[in-house]
Amino acid sequence: MNPLFELDDPVPFDRIRPEHLVPAAEEAVADARARIDAIKAESAAHFEPTFGVFDDAMERLHRVMVIAGHLNSVAHSDAVEEAYRDVVRLSSEFSSAISTDPDLLATFERVLEEDGEMRADQKRFATLTVESLRRSGAGLDPDPRSRLRELRVRLSDLQNEFGVNTLKATNATRFHLTDGSDLDGLPERHRAAARRRAEEAGEEGWLVTLQQPSAGPFLQHAHDRELRRRIHEARTNLAVSPPHDNRGILQEILELRAEIAGILGRETWAEHVLEESMAKTPQAVLDFIEQLTGATDPGWEQDRAALEALAGELGYERVEPWDMAFLSERLRERECAIEDEEVRPYFELGAVIDGAFEVARRLFGVELRPAALPAWHADVRTYEVLREGEVVAHLYADWHPRDDKRSGAWMNRLRAGGPRQDGTVEPHSVLVCGNFTAPDDEGRSLLNHDEVTTLFHEFGHALHQCLSTTRIRGLSGTSVYTDWVEVPSQIMENWCWEPEALALFAAHVETGELMPDELVERLRATRHHLEAAARMRQLSFAALDMALHAGPVAEDYEGTLRRAQRAAERYTLRPEFARNQFITGFHHLFSGMYSAGYYSYLWSDTLQTDLFTAFEDDRLFDRETGDRLVREILSRGNEAEPIDMFRSFMGRDPDYTALVRREGQAASAALAGGGPAGG
Ligand SMILES: [Zn+2]
Repeated sequence: MNPLFELDDPVPFDRIRPEHLVPAAEEAVADARARIDAIKAESAAHFEPTFGVFDDAMERLHRVMVIAGHLNSVAHSDAVEEAYRDVVRLSSEFSSAISTDPDLLATFERVLEEDGEMRADQKRFATLTVESLRRSGAGLDPDPRSRLRELRVRLSDLQNEFGVNTLKATNATRFHLTDGSDLDGLPERHRAAARRRAEEAGEEGWLVTLQQPSAGPFLQHAHDRELRRRIHEARTNLAVSPPHDNRGILQEILELRAEIAGILGRETWAEHVLEESMAKTPQAVLDFIEQLTGATDPGWEQDRAALEALAGELGYERVEPWDMAFLSERLRERECAIEDEEVRPYFELGAVIDGAFEVARRLFGVELRPAALPAWHADVRTYEVLREGEVVAHLYADWHPRDDKRSGAWMNRLRAGGPRQDGTVEPHSVLVCGNFTAPDDEGRSLLNHDEVTTLFHEFGHALHQCLSTTRIRGLSGTSVYTDWVEVPSQIMENWCWEPEALALFAAHVETGELMPDELVERLRATRHHLEAAARMRQLSFAALDMALHAGPVAEDYEGTLRRAQRAAERYTLRPEFARNQFITGFHHLFSGMYSAGYYSYLWSDTLQTDLFTAFEDDRLFDRETGDRLVREILSRGNEAEPIDMFRSFMGRDPDYTALVRREGQAASAALAGGGPAGG
């Protein structure tokens, strides 16, 4: 029996095999197709037998899709990859058929018009669904409509292939070091990890891979500049040649997107995408980028001067791209008098997880209990999430890198739960994944503060889903605009910077002593250290994204590459910094969901910084404010326009200068205290 036919919760991961995926997708598609036929045959003008049935049908298909995609990301094998490719094709053929179905659109338009008894959430779902079908071309004539369907299927295949190529190219390159002096500067724990990697591969010496936990520290610490250059270049030249070549794929993706936008009567892909966003138009995004760049410039001038001065001291002729992480880390050590390694003993993974849970308990009354749920790997930790004594979600957490797992950190939902028609509450099913520092010989995973921040971030996404109480699944939790979805995740990051919150979990792994106040202060100083430089990097990606998606497509890959590089130049130390061909590994734009959407990270950071001011002045753990955040924002998913949710919580409009203001305050606080460098 195919365990995926049951769609049980919890998901029976222990019984799912690659060969189950395609039949399950076929069944889910057949089931959804039958329901769609029933909707079109429906004569009454009521929400439930039409939009309601549609919501259920899409959720069922979504679950099979997500499970297949998830296994492809965390338990990758040729069999899973092949099955996933077929599942994606089935699902996108189906989605594209229904989203361009004129009869379905006509039925929905009629019900939206005639059903005068819809609740507000139903009305929103109905309106969004109709708009989305129109945006998909359901209102077009047959010829352009069928062309659109072809294009979408092809696009989906290519985006998948782009991701697979990136993963394979990342795994295909390893640096095998045999001379211990090649690792000079690398802290002992990273040396040991490189040694372990070599042993596992049955080799002498040390292995450095292109995955972040390996390459990242190497670029930050290794003295050998030539090796840093080689690793940097390998990372920024991913998938630019056979057998894992993304160049043609990327170009075709851009061309397909432009053609799709054109058929829908839009100038550019960005115009099409941004209709479903908080920003609404490409111009609003370009203005935002421009405004934030201007505000970041003065800080950037200081940061680049500091980097260049240090390079001079070290005898470098000039700063090269492979020096940036190294110089940043040295400056951080010097100016904040802190080393990554100094804080790791205070951030043992288990303690950090408990800390994140404790923050959620105090703020939102959420409790997390370990629960033995079937999972895809022995490393996965599984929990029940409770609020007011009720199980509202199942949570899976998979935190360490493996060869069969893609890089990065992410959250996904396997199932949208929440209150159902019959009055019961179904638990959500949510997963978070990361690629944190692997456990040492004693089985302890000691995180740096970036990893702690990432954990809180993904946990924030998870809470957004777990706390969702929308009745309509399609509006549930994280099913929100891309430029709003990062707000709940980014706001949680604040709690790993506040002394009062760190005191809950930052205890030394050996002595159990809390992180000393002076170390907390030095850590806090790092938050705004080189922040302008980091923001410029984000701005460069946002600008590059808009350059590729908010104008006509270049003639060929070389032209696209040049355009991307030119767009990034404004934000880099020197124009040649933009010359790396990083677009062929840019998963967000070509395989993930962030095309014409990379600005979202900065946009939502601005909004969350503003929202977080509600927790300042001794309200860091104020339950009343926390509950209000749940009530007005976290529980509401996509039930209202984000701007309206923002206003309900804050009682005013957003302050788009919030980010710059936060830095300003930090800078004046540092000046008033004489700055951390003196101590
Ligand atoms: Zn995120």
